[in-house]
Amino acid sequence: MSDQPTSQEQLATRLVEAGRREEWTHGIVNPPVYHASTVIFPTLAAYEAANANFETALFYGRRGTPTTWALEDALTSLTPGGAGTRLFPSGVAAIAAALLAVLRGGDHLLMVDSTYEPTRTLCNGLLANMGIETSYYDPLVGGAITELFRPNTRAVFVESPGSLTFEVQDIPAIAAAARARDSLVIADNTYGGPTLYPVLALGADLSCVSLTKYVIGHSDAMLGAVTASARAWPLMKAAAGQLGQCGAPDDVFLALRGLRTLGVRLDRQGATALSLAQWLAGHPAVERVLHPSLPSCPGHALFARDCAAPAGLFSFVMRQGSWPQLAALVDHLRYFKMGFSWGGYESLILPLRPGKNRTATRWPAGGPVLRVNIGLEDEADLKADLAAGLERYSAQF
Ligand SMILES: *Cc1c(COP(=O)(O)O)cnc(C)c1O
Repeated sequence: MSDQPTSQEQLATRLVEAGRREEWTHGIVNPPVYHASTVIFPTLAAYEAANANFETALFYGRRGTPTTWALEDALTSLTPGGAGTRLFPSGVAAIAAALLAVLRGGDHLLMVDSTYEPTRTLCNGLLANMGIETSYYDPLVGGAITELFRPNTRAVFVESPGSLTFEVQDIPAIAAAARARDSLVIADNTYGGPTLYPVLALGADLSCVSLTKYVIGHSDAMLGAVTASARAWPLMKAAAGQLGQCGAPDDVFLALRGLRTLGVRLDRQGATALSLAQWLAGHPAVERVLHPSLPSCPGHALFARDCAAPAGLFSFVMRQGSWPQLAALVDHLRYFKMGFSWGGYESLILPLRPGKNRTATRWPAGGPVLRVNIGLEDEADLKADLAAGLERYSAQF
């Protein structure tokens, strides 16, 4: 599409401009925060006009206001190949809506084995109860996924890189196989989001993003989005309307605010993370670093081909030791706090059990695994904090 950003300059400018249409802002810099359920129709003619236009004009709060349109429009325009966006109260809600939009009872779903755990729980729970069968596949399968299709395979779900173990998937090869079988590709694109990983341009049909992570960026609100290709947009739009989920206005405001600084935050967090990952790769206590820009990460060549830049999230495997011994490392860190989620301005660390949920692949036995979200703190401070933690850990052997 000709109006999609093609260079960093264009993207930086678009992050500032996106969603700020004069018809929504009325000349104020930011779109206003509308709290709305009832929309008042002054005449019968206005009421009828609203009924005829309920997806694009003011109709009822759940169906959208200039606040939500501004964010949806911004995300669509930032996503190469995006035709439309709908908002959901969390990333998991967005993923559930995308799956429900596409799948019917009796369908089969191919799900990547490295997927986010709540996605797996949904497939094995509610979707299984509805007669939708899920089988799991190796994230590194590439074009050989074609052999896993069944006559009733309706969709393939990809998540690249995996958010714990960072395997990078060959999305173009998987999408080509899916297209040949008339199946749709749903992506969890929370890692790369609209600006780093152009999953729709690479062939996916639906891009689910947890805006809770980098877009909101401050660990204080939850929101999700699905951006659809032209082919999948009618399906997604209809499902979102039927499900009745919507984004709350104050959270949408925080996402719009986050968008304006997304580029600079990602640049800085990504650069600090890569530098720390390279340092950890040479550390004697560390066996392997799982960062998609490093050769030690499966699929890193695909990452270099398909993703504009790395985000600030990666994992590393310890050379020796066991889970309880991690206390020496994580209990006394100063800047790295322990907690779920990522993408915020503050650094986080989380011990992982990546083998726990796998069924199609085996996670190699070895030392414990830790994931870090790199924030906006000074790199030298973060490095000193981790170095001290690794020293406390190593002193146990
Ligand atoms: C956090 C996360 C989600 C879910 O997002 P929420 O907004 O927390 O519901 C989905 N996928 C991935 C990869 C995530 O890391």
